[in-house]
Amino acid sequence: MTSERFEVIVVGSGAGGGVVAGELAERGRSVLLLEAGGHYTAADFTRWESRAGHDYWWPLRFAFPAGDPGLGPVTLIGGRCVGGSTVINTKVALPASQRELDKWNAATGVGISRGDLDPYYERVERYLGVRERTDDWDLKGCVQTAKRGFAAVGATLEPTRAYSDHNCMQCGSCLQGCPTNAGKSTLNTYIHRNWLDEHLTLRPNSLVSRVLIEDGEATGVQYADERGETHTVHADAVVVAGGSLSTPQILLRSGLSNPNIGRHLGLHPAQFVFGLFDEPQDAHMVAPISSHCFDFAADERGGFVVEAVTVQDPIGFTVSLCDENGPMWGEPLVEAARNYRRWVGLLNMSNDDNHASVILDDDGNEHFTSAFEPHELDRVNRAREFATNVLEAAGARRVLWSGLATTHMQGSCRMGADPDTSVVDPHCQSHEVKRLYVGDSSLHSRTLSVNPSLTIMALATRLADHLDEGAGGQLEARRSEQLVA
Ligand SMILES: Cc1cc2nc3c(=O)[nH]c(=O)nc-3n(C[C@H](O)[C@H](O)[C@H](O)COP(=O)(O)OP(=O)(O)OC[C@H]3O[C@@H](n4cnc5c(N)ncnc54)[C@H](O)[C@@H]3O)c2cc1C
Ligand code: SF4
Repeated sequence: MTSERFEVIVVGSGAGGGVVAGELAERGRSVLLLEAGGHYTAADFTRWESRAGHDYWWPLRFAFPAGDPGLGPVTLIGGRCVGGSTVINTKVALPASQRELDKWNAATGVGISRGDLDPYYERVERYLGVRERTDDWDLKGCVQTAKRGFAAVGATLEPTRAYSDHNCMQCGSCLQGCPTNAGKSTLNTYIHRNWLDEHLTLRPNSLVSRVLIEDGEATGVQYADERGETHTVHADAVVVAGGSLSTPQILLRSGLSNPNIGRHLGLHPAQFVFGLFDEPQDAHMVAPISSHCFDFAADERGGFVVEAVTVQDPIGFTVSLCDENGPMWGEPLVEAARNYRRWVGLLNMSNDDNHASVILDDDGNEHFTSAFEPHELDRVNRAREFATNVLEAAGARRVLWSGLATTHMQGSCRMGADPDTSVVDPHCQSHEVKRLYVGDSSLHSRTLSVNPSLTIMALATRLADHLDEGAGGQLEARRSEQLVA
């Protein structure tokens, strides 16, 4: 057993935790960053699908429908390594619109506007070098195919913005980690830039079980290292950022009892729709997600967005394929796989109303439920119809699709003004326990239509500012002010 003291302990090193830790360390705060997964770098990231699934991904988890809407489970995908899901994501970087933040305010009264977030969005964009992803816009055949289809149905397909720089060779293996460091994760930015400095202590393979609480205040955490040995560490403030599926479990294991913990989970359900073309398209050899269509993003316009162009690597592609008869099997599946180079995939993501949940049973086992209402399923079905029309208009001679999955889990410890409807206050501090903060995607009061990471990072930067300013009284005056004095 060891016991040490830091100013801030951050649990989880993904989009939220990596940014809080890096920002605070840069300001001279002593930070311990604990991460359940291993520490890998670009040298480890080869295009080896099953190794990535084993080493850098959290083992696949599933949200089972609470009723029986005729749907299978939703596959929940996330990263488990230093950098979290930002290591394996596709780097799309889009801010939330005021329309989406209005939904947050209606749900929890959190009182955040686009104007409040803009300075933080700008700081994150500068830090990561966000730019328009137009490198392959006019070069790749599969992108041309998608453009043709969208134009034929009169819809807008525009280049997306992303945190990948000009070293991107459009190899398409972002989900296995970026081998060139062109893709910016919290690993190769916020964490590595501060890692060799004295202020950031990074401990990979460290699984946090609970937050230590005394007299209503967080005092530290307990974690197990890779040998299974237990350690306690102490700090003036604890930020839990294990992602939307883990953070509620850590809070429940720590004895918190706010009934909103684990509820209101948003899934942003995603579905691939694939079109088979006569000519090779090589949609696996392109920056996965170079463009998007936001014509239908508002609920009243359909409630879905469509991203282009991609297909997963062969294992992910074949295990997910469905046709009119359900999941594919046998000779039709073999035939589809044989034509791997000829498929073009569009990725639909639909707005949901946050009815999923994270549950910890009496034996400490995790369970996830989904519960879509008919109007939410209508959005998913309309998105699939739209994508089918686009692909057929582009000349596809066969259309298949995947089951539902999500990489955008959000909202399981949402922030708001009132403990009756939220878990943490608008500064991300627990309503129940002082000095205990949430710093990840769990905070989002409602699912965003845009990809969530830029907003998670903006909120994490805002939280780092709040802690460093000493506004909550948890830390002493800003380190820079202490140095001047
Ligand atoms: C394949 C994929 C593609 C995506 N593409 C995009 C995209 O293009 N654009 C976009 O905006 N978003 C994208 N996302 C989503 C985005 O990456 C996530 O929303 C974001 O990273 C979530 O941030 P987070 O901090 O909540 O969790 P994560 O980034 O998942 O980080 C949580 C970390 O906490 C660790 N952890 C969990 N429990 C514990 C514990 N008990 N102790 C210690 N550590 C723990 C986990 O191992 C993990 O490393 C994608 C995600 C995936 C998986
Ligand atoms: S497509 Fe670009 S960002 Fe993605 S892994 Fe390849 S080089 Fe990295």
